[in-house]
Amino acid sequence: MRAMLKGIAASDGIVCGQVYRLVEPNLTVQQRAITNLDYELNRFHQALEAAVSDVETIKTRATKNLGTDSAQVFSAHIAMLQDPELITAVETQIRQRKINAEAALAAVARTYETSFQGLTDNPYMQERITDLHDVTKRVTAHLLQVALPDLALVNHPVIVVTHDLIPSDTVSVNPRYILGFVTDLGGRTSHSSILARSMAIPAVVGTQHATDQLTNGEMVILNGTRGQVMVAPDDDELASAQAAMHERAANLKRLSKLRHHGTVSKDGVGVTLAANIGTANDLPSVLQNGAEAVGLMRTEFLYMDADQLPSEDEQFAIYKQVLTAMAPRPVVIRTLDIGGDKPLPYLKQKPETNPFMGARAIRQSLTHQQIFRSQLRALLRASAFGNLRIMFPMIATLDEFRQAKAIYDDERSKLTVAQVPLGSIKIGMMVEVPAAALLADRFAQEVDFMSIGTNDLIGYTMAADRTNQDVAYLYQPYHPAILRLVNRVIAAAHGAGIPVAMCGEMAGDPIAVPLLLGMGLDEFSMGAGSILKTRRLIGQLSAHDLQALVETTLNQASTSQEVITMVQAAVPGILT
Ligand code: PEP
Ligand code: MG
Repeated sequence: MRAMLKGIAASDGIVCGQVYRLVEPNLTVQQRAITNLDYELNRFHQALEAAVSDVETIKTRATKNLGTDSAQVFSAHIAMLQDPELITAVETQIRQRKINAEAALAAVARTYETSFQGLTDNPYMQERITDLHDVTKRVTAHLLQVALPDLALVNHPVIVVTHDLIPSDTVSVNPRYILGFVTDLGGRTSHSSILARSMAIPAVVGTQHATDQLTNGEMVILNGTRGQVMVAPDDDELASAQAAMHERAANLKRLSKLRHHGTVSKDGVGVTLAANIGTANDLPSVLQNGAEAVGLMRTEFLYMDADQLPSEDEQFAIYKQVLTAMAPRPVVIRTLDIGGDKPLPYLKQKPETNPFMGARAIRQSLTHQQIFRSQLRALLRASAFGNLRIMFPMIATLDEFRQAKAIYDDERSKLTVAQVPLGSIKIGMMVEVPAAALLADRFAQEVDFMSIGTNDLIGYTMAADRTNQDVAYLYQPYHPAILRLVNRVIAAAHGAGIPVAMCGEMAGDPIAVPLLLGMGLDEFSMGAGSILKTRRLIGQLSAHDLQALVETTLNQASTSQEVITMVQAAVPGILT
C-alpha cells in the first residue's frame, strides 16, 4: 500500500509527475570571520551575476505572459542588483569588517531599510523596500547555495506543491509545465482552487501537510477528482494513472467538438454558459473552452498581484484587453471584492475579529471612494471596446446599491462631459448575502441583472466559513435552504423581467445543474474547465421535465442528502 495524502478535490483530472516544492527555504545568515578577501569578494560577485540571470529569465517569462508594464518590477530588481552604490557598500563591509558576503549583504540591507523608514507612507519608498527584500533574498540564496523556488524558472512538467497558492505565483508560469497543484491550505471555494480551475489544471487543496511530506523530484499521482495524492507509486499504479490521463485527454477531445455550439437543453431551452476569470491570462482557456461570455471577472487579482494600487491606466489596459478579446460577447466585471480571505497587504486595514463579516467588498469601495472611482473610470473608458456589464459585490442593502450606482453615474457624467467615448453598460449586483436574496424582488426593480454568488451565500446562510475545514461539513450547496433562496432570487429576477446568472462554484456542479436549469437560471458562469462538460450535460436534460424535480426538492426535501438522492433518481447516471 502506497502512502496517500488526502485533501479536497479542487480541480478535476488525474496527472502523474515529479514534485516541485514552492516553499520558502531557510535563509538564516550566520556571520563568519573570513581570511581570504579576494575569494569572498569573488563569491559575492558570482552570486550577483547568478541573481541577475535568474531575474532576466523571470522577466522574459513575465513579459510574455503579462506584457511589458507588469514586468517592469523585474527591471527594477536588475537595476538594484547592478547598483554600484549597493555593490560598493557590501564590498566595503567585507573588506573592513572581514566578514562573509551574506552577513555583509544583510548588514547593508538593514542600513538601507533604516534609511527608508519614516518614509513608509511614500508608495515609491515602500516599493523600494519590497524590491530590496526580493533582491537580498535572491543573492543570499545563491551565497548559501540554496535553491529559491520560482515557477518562472521551471522548464519541465511538474506538480507544484505549496502551502497556499496565490495569483502572483501563477502569473509568470508557463502553463505547459504545470501538471497540477497540491496545497496545504484551502477549500473548494478558496482562491487557490478557483485559480486552478480557471487554468483547468488538476488540483488537490487542504492536505494540511503536503509541503512537509513531499520532497522535490519525488514521483506522485495527483487525483484532482477524488482529492488524493499517491506518493511514490509503483509501475502498475503509474500505468493505470497514465491510462486514466489518456482517457481524460480522449474525453476532452470529444468534448471539444462542442466548443462552437450554443448551449441548448434537449427540449430546446437556450442558456448562456460563461466563464469566471481572474486575469487576462485566463482568456486563452476561456476561448478554447467555448465560453459564450465572461460571467465574472474577479478584479481583486489585479490588485493582489501588485505591491501597490494599480493605476487607472493599468486597469484600463487590462479591461480593454478582456473586452476586446471577448467582443461582441458580454463581459461582467466585478468591482473590487477585497477583505475576507482576500486582504490587500498594501492597504492597511484594521485587524477585524471576523473579516468575512467586516469591511469587505462594496463596503470598502464605499469607504475608500478614490479607489472605487478610479476603478469605475477605468471600466467606463474600456466600455467603448466591447460589451461591458459592471457588477457590485456583497450588496446587502438597497442603500449600498444606490450609493454605488450614484458614484458610477457621477463618474459617467464627468467622462461624458469630457467627451470620452463610452459604450452602453449594464449595472448589476451579486446576490451573495442572504438579506439580498430574501429581498431580491425589491433589488430587481433597480438593477439591470443579478448574479448569484453561492460561494458566499452558502457560507453566510449556513454560518460556515468557506475556508474553514472544521466546518466544511456544513458548507452544503444542495441544502434545501440554499435551494429555496436560489429559487427565490431567480423567480424575483424573472418577475421583474431581468436576467439572472450564477457565478458561484455551484453553477458548474453536475448535481446542481439540473435543479438550476429547472428553476430557469439564464446564465451559468464557472471555471473554464467545466464549461464543455456542463454544455454536454444540459444537452441531455429536459428543462421542462426538471420543473417537477425542482418542486419536489423545494417542497419535500429536508436535507442535502435527500436532494442528492432525488436528483440522482430523476437524472440517472448524472455523476458518470
Ligand atoms: C461567490 O461568492 O459566489 C463569488 C462568485 O465570489 P467570490 O468567490 O469571489 O467571493
Ligand atoms: Mg463572493
